[in-house]
Amino acid sequence: MKVKTDAIVLRHPANVRAATGIDCDNAWVVEDAAGTCLYTDFRYIPMAHRVAPKLKVRDIRKVSVKGRRIGYESTLTMAEFAALRRFAPRGAKFIDRTREILARRAVKRPEEIEKLRAAVALNDRIWQTASRRFKAGMTEKAMARVIRGLMLELGDGEAFDTIVCVGANAAECHHVPDGTVWNGREPVLVDMGVKLDGYCSDMTRCLRPVRPRGLYAKVYDLVLAANRAAIAAARPGMTGKALDKVARDIIRKGGFGQCFGHALGHGVGLEIHEAPSASKASDWVLAPGMFVTIEPGVYLEGNLGVRIEDLVLITETGCEVLSTSEK
Ligand code: ZN
Ligand code: ZN
Repeated sequence: MKVKTDAIVLRHPANVRAATGIDCDNAWVVEDAAGTCLYTDFRYIPMAHRVAPKLKVRDIRKVSVKGRRIGYESTLTMAEFAALRRFAPRGAKFIDRTREILARRAVKRPEEIEKLRAAVALNDRIWQTASRRFKAGMTEKAMARVIRGLMLELGDGEAFDTIVCVGANAAECHHVPDGTVWNGREPVLVDMGVKLDGYCSDMTRCLRPVRPRGLYAKVYDLVLAANRAAIAAARPGMTGKALDKVARDIIRKGGFGQCFGHALGHGVGLEIHEAPSASKASDWVLAPGMFVTIEPGVYLEGNLGVRIEDLVLITETGCEVLSTSEK
């Protein structure tokens, strides 16, 4: 049974931004019957007055939380939790409200949908420009710098550290770009997302300059089939677990079930990973206005790696694929 709370306290910057419109890394937001109050420090107070003129803004040294049952986020550090106890009345109960707080951000408002569309469209453009600039002899780091440079020039930088994997390095699904030199013929896996107006994008493509054959071609076709099947299946009312299973079953039947070690996808918004998740254990229910990645992958250590990732928007009847880059 859900226990009612007298107040909800937010600390995580993405939740602070979602509740107040203010981007700052040192704030507490207290929501109670009296309304919403942002507590922040001297550096952010003038910006808060400008961005949200109607919001109650107070000095962070004076945080006070009233009530006996206080809802909090599980991302608090021990020190932050200790601070929260000092802000609240003696004997107050603390109730984990992470799920409810994340759920608020899972369904996007129309203006957020437009911002996410713009971020995804820009990410596609950057991929098209960057991939044409890749030349034999470049290192993974150099290729990542091309992408990062375009993201800074055209957007607000990277939503996460760009992943570039030449050849067998793609078997490490979160490989850190290094000095590996590209010979111009090997496949290159790139996982990238530009940030724009506070919102993230996320896409993975495998550049294949030479028509792949053998095992690589077999794995690529299987991952693509899993990606397409999940896109065809995604619809409101479905759980994240059921969506994950659609792709996972295809990869398992293809003989590579043990080589798909991560979740099918995750929500994207103010943060690169947010609700809803589409994993084996996810009980999030998809709803119109949610964004989720569809990113099956197969990784064979020391040999090859393939991941194909699109960002989709759940609609009334199914989903709309926002990533338009060729796959
Ligand atoms: Zn990604
Ligand atoms: Zn992703």
